[in-house]
Amino acid sequence: MVEDSYKQRGLRNLLVKNLAKKGISDSNVLQAIGKVPRHVFFDNALLSHAYEDKAFPIGEGQTISQPFTVAFQTEKLEIKVGDKVLEIGTGSGYQACVLLELGAKLFTIEYQRKLYEKTSVFLPQMGYKPYFVHGDGSKGLASKAPFDKIIVTAGAPIIPTALFEQLNENGILIIPVGDRDKQKMIKVVKRNGKMIKEELADFAFVPLLGEQGWANC
Ligand code: SAM
Repeated sequence: MVEDSYKQRGLRNLLVKNLAKKGISDSNVLQAIGKVPRHVFFDNALLSHAYEDKAFPIGEGQTISQPFTVAFQTEKLEIKVGDKVLEIGTGSGYQACVLLELGAKLFTIEYQRKLYEKTSVFLPQMGYKPYFVHGDGSKGLASKAPFDKIIVTAGAPIIPTALFEQLNENGILIIPVGDRDKQKMIKVVKRNGKMIKEELADFAFVPLLGEQGWANC
């Protein structure tokens, strides 16, 4: 049972209002953020910061994304109940919970074994049950493809071809692409088998590693 105090619910409501002020307008996305207790992903030392609109460390040199980033990427995915969604970069599992709250049928891949082991035990304890995979998400998940939506939560040097191939017709891929430490968010739609690209805002993610990502150094 997750502890979710009156104060934590209040701080979460303030965060939701703040995200709306920053331009997140999809009420389903805002409601989903309002439901997921972000504080449970934080160690005691950082607990008081859980509802700040900032990224924080989660171990293994990785981060739980900033709530605005989670809301922005989620909004751009236009999730409908029952959508088959692939997430690359499970990390803490926070983004996964938001997608599940929206009714996604979620497959999520994490590269770092320790994070995969921790999150694949923790999320089901909270009642969130995506299909967890440990591996290189830059290659997608061919055995479960195609997907209606794909979200990449780490910065990629290119749009991995495998991800586009594993997208359904009219499917949406949202992915930060650019340098190792600064990227442009790209929305890709597959129309008549062709890649329609839209460049969105600037973000700073940890690097996407693996075969179609950055070298691990
Ligand atoms: N979605 C996460 C959350 O809500 O906490 C944010 C995760 S963090 C910004 C990015 C994650 O991508 C890290 O956990 C990192 O280990 C993972 N990652 C990096 N390269 C990957 C790859 N090739 N396949 C799968 N996961 C990868």
